[in-house]
Amino acid sequence: MTTLSPVSVRDGTVPCLAPVSTPAILIRRTEYGDADLIVTFFALRLGKLSLMAKSAKKSARRFAGVLELFTELDIVAGAGRRGGLALLQEAALRNPYPAIRRDPFKTAYASYWAELVNDWMEEGIENAEVFLLLRHVLAALDTGSLTPAALSILFQMRLLRISGHCPHLGRCVICRCDIEGILADMLAVEIARGGVACPGCLPPEAGRHRLSKGTVKQLLWVAGGDLTRAGRMKFSPRALREGQAFLERFVPYHLGRVPRSLKVLHQLRGNDV
Ligand SMILES: [Zn+2]
Repeated sequence: MTTLSPVSVRDGTVPCLAPVSTPAILIRRTEYGDADLIVTFFALRLGKLSLMAKSAKKSARRFAGVLELFTELDIVAGAGRRGGLALLQEAALRNPYPAIRRDPFKTAYASYWAELVNDWMEEGIENAEVFLLLRHVLAALDTGSLTPAALSILFQMRLLRISGHCPHLGRCVICRCDIEGILADMLAVEIARGGVACPGCLPPEAGRHRLSKGTVKQLLWVAGGDLTRAGRMKFSPRALREGQAFLERFVPYHLGRVPRSLKVLHQLRGNDV
């Protein structure tokens, strides 16, 4: 594997003079003609990056079957070509995460996270924190060291913060009072305003989506700080239930659509939302 100089990429292609070598996670693959694949990575050094993998479909030897979704690879991205995608020159396996692809639930969660990264991250903007977050949740999903639901809360809260879409959970979205100082345990969720409201502004009636203050605290805790520490959070069963329901409504609302992979996840869980 060649090691080459870093470049800054900001316009959707790779306008560098030399190829770039970087760890990268495969988040999307699309067939292109009879022989080729277009592969989208989230790379440590280049951020989101779409490349043409020539003959990847036709020749089993070309990339030795390593271009599977959610695998972590060492790639060499070629120099950008005028009017076209840069070429994937080399790809060597780092972590195949095989247990994810064997399990439909794990595949659905990984697909959801990959779809959010693909939708929310701009092409060519380096963001090591997103790369390390995606690697962290995929590795834990693969080994089963944490439940998919807990990993998904960790992933969504941190990606929302990094991408500037973090829900407002520390203060009432209407009167701005500090949630910490409220006596009541339940808070009404006001998705359109991006967070929770105090009982004085919006009564947390049955039937309305609600979050307990305990869940709010756990969500805020995992959104920031050190990833390894946040990843050790033991969510209470209630926080898992409430947090998952809240985030899987909050994310589509602010994305402007329901991610296709989230619909699949809901179908698998039997809650066809
Ligand atoms: Zn209020």
